[in-house]
Amino acid sequence: MYDVVIIGAGIAGLTAAIYVRRSNKTVLVLEGQAYGGQIINTLQIENWPGDYGVSGVDLMQKIYKQATELGAEVEFEEVEVVEKVGEDFVIKTEDGEYKAGAVILAVGAEDKKLGIERETELAGRGVSYCATCDGAFYKGKNVAVIGGGNTALYDAVYLADIADKVYVVHRRDEFRGDAVLVEKLKRKENVEFVLGYVPEQILGDDKVAGVKLAPSGKVDSATSEKILDVDGIFVAIGKKPATEKFAELVKLDEDGYIVASEDCKTSCDGVYVAGDCRTKDIRQLVTAAADGAVAADAAVNYLSK
Ligand code: NAP
Repeated sequence: MYDVVIIGAGIAGLTAAIYVRRSNKTVLVLEGQAYGGQIINTLQIENWPGDYGVSGVDLMQKIYKQATELGAEVEFEEVEVVEKVGEDFVIKTEDGEYKAGAVILAVGAEDKKLGIERETELAGRGVSYCATCDGAFYKGKNVAVIGGGNTALYDAVYLADIADKVYVVHRRDEFRGDAVLVEKLKRKENVEFVLGYVPEQILGDDKVAGVKLAPSGKVDSATSEKILDVDGIFVAIGKKPATEKFAELVKLDEDGYIVASEDCKTSCDGVYVAGDCRTKDIRQLVTAAADGAVAADAAVNYLSK
C-alpha cells in the first residue's frame, strides 16, 4: 500500500512525486513507456527557467534522478484501470495491482499525428509539434504550419516573427480558430495561406527539405498537388489526451481532458490530475510542473483528513 500512486512519469508526474516525498509520504510512479513524457522529443528547451537550452532528455534525467533519490519508486507498467474500493484505490496494471490512499493522474496528452510516411522518423529533424519549443531554430528559414485551429494560428503568428516565410496549410477554406488571429496573419507580409490542402509526403533525406501537398477535396479551387520549399513543418492538428481508461473514474470533457481547475481536483475525491491531460489553457512544461506541486499538495492534504 502506497500513500500516493502517480500515473505518468512526465514532468507533471515526477514533480508531483518530488513534492509527495517532501511530505514524507510513500509514492509509486507508474509509467507505461519511458520516463520523460513529450518533452524528450525536444532537443533544446528555451523556456525552462534556469537551464537555458537544456535538452528534453537531459532535463528529464535530472528530474527523474531527483525524484528517485528523494525516495520515489518507479515501475514501468502500463496501467489498465483504477478503481475506488472503500477508502482505497486499486490500480491494476498489465503485471499486477497496487493499492494507494490517493491517486494523481499525470498521463499527458499526445499531439495528433498526420499519419504520413517518415513523420515519426523526421520528428526533431524538421517536423515539430511545438512552435514555442522549436521555432527559434527556423530564423530566416521557410516553414509550414499545418492546421486551422487556434494552436496553428498562434504558432503561425509566433513563427512569422522568426522565419522568413510561413505557409499556413489548412484542409478547409474556413478556419476553426479565432477570426482575429486570421486577420492578424493576413496583415503579415511573410504569411501565406494554402487552403484546401493536406500534407501528403515529407521531402528530404535526413532532415526536412520540403513538403508535398495534396488537395483535401474540401475546396474546389485546390485541384493539383503543390510542393512547398520549407525546412520546418509545424504540425498543429490538435491533441489527444491519454485518458480513455479513466472515463469511469473521473469526469472528462468532450475532448477527453480530465475536468479540473487550477486546484487539480477531479470529480472523484482522492484523485488529482496534473499536466497536459487536465482541462487548462496553457500546456507548457512550467505549468505541468506547477500542477505536479499542486496535485501532490492536494493529495497529501486529502490523506491527512
Ligand atoms: P483544434 O481546435 O481541434 O484544431 C485542429 C485543426 O487541425 C482543425 O483546423 C482541423 O481541421 C485540423 N486537422 C485535424 N486533423 C487534421 C488532419 N488529419 N489533417 C489536416 N488537418 C487536420 O485543435 P487546437 O488548435 O490544438 O486547439 C485545441 C483547443 O485549444 C481549442 O479549443 C483551441 O481554441 C484551444 N486553444 C486555445 C488557445 C488560446 O486561447 N490561447 C491557444 C491554442 C489552442 P478542421 O477545422 O477541418 O477540423
